[in-house]
Amino acid sequence: MPFSPATKARLFIRCNRLCCLCGKQCGTNIEAAHIIPEAQGGTNDKSNAIPLCFDCHQEIGAYDSSHPRGNSFTPAELRARRDRVYKLVESGLLPVSVQWGDTRPIPAVPRRLSGALLDRLRAVALDVAMYEDVVGILGHASFPKMMSLSGERVFNPIWTDALWHTEQRVVATFRPDGPTPLRVMPLDVLLIKGEDRDGRPCLLTYFSSKPGSGWQAFLFPFRQREPNESQGARLSLDAEDIAAFLGLSHDSVSVSTLEDKYAAGVKPDFGYHDLVLYLFTFCSVALTSPPRWLSKQDAYFRLEHSERRFHWFHPEELEHDAAAMRVNADLIRAIHYLFATTIPGVPRSVPPRFLRE
Ligand SMILES: [Zn+2]
Repeated sequence: MPFSPATKARLFIRCNRLCCLCGKQCGTNIEAAHIIPEAQGGTNDKSNAIPLCFDCHQEIGAYDSSHPRGNSFTPAELRARRDRVYKLVESGLLPVSVQWGDTRPIPAVPRRLSGALLDRLRAVALDVAMYEDVVGILGHASFPKMMSLSGERVFNPIWTDALWHTEQRVVATFRPDGPTPLRVMPLDVLLIKGEDRDGRPCLLTYFSSKPGSGWQAFLFPFRQREPNESQGARLSLDAEDIAAFLGLSHDSVSVSTLEDKYAAGVKPDFGYHDLVLYLFTFCSVALTSPPRWLSKQDAYFRLEHSERRFHWFHPEELEHDAAAMRVNADLIRAIHYLFATTIPGVPRSVPPRFLRE
């Protein structure tokens, strides 16, 4: 028995009619395949279905276990590959090859990167794997449109058509292989998580509005890492920085890393009009005695003559904030992809139900 039309419709929407094995956009040439065949007791439920192109459907069915050649796809692998495509579609981070109809492979001899750029990168990448991953993005044929989410290469949503046209000059000037290399900006993104009165998770942002250089949008607090910082120094400097930013004492703040989660991608610096490689690494912040002013969804902090403006966003709400998305679609989507909408892997920074209206 085949899957019901309603089940198939749901599957094809979730995968955007992309084949879950080869990533091809299938249009009408897509089928719902059984992960566990019906003959072996597989159900006609959506959990047992994977959208595939004709070729891939035939390939998973053609494996003959009595004459094994190569390695068949296990049900667990098929489910994992399907769920990865669902997640990419949901977060708007489709691989470049799919999004742009660009199937060019990574060049065998990558673009030569300038020595100064590689030196800088070596000093700020946290390990060899991250270094090689980022070199791969910079040398890729689709530069600057590619980004990496902890090693997963995806389309960088910041490069919409409009941005591409307005920023072409910047891309032509600041090149990874030219005399004027792009800037490298290693940032610890400091995730401060709270819960609203209904228990829904929120993240703290601040409004960047310095005249002339501000991004005019809500941003996540961050600190720029120095070259060759030790891990201990790094987290202590992060804590010191965010404590000063919120007007708290240093010893009431602690910062931890989030399992080496990172996002790396290239975009213009909206304040200074050059091209920057952003290397976002994610950290979580714990505040032992958060100040009362911070418990409002729109919070203000006055320090002498300046005022800082904060806002607690539900993660999905950020994706609907046009100003934030214009400058930070890459980071916002990366958080969605790496941590999911309910950010379950990010520990709470403040006590439960800390936020009031
Ligand atoms: Zn396929």
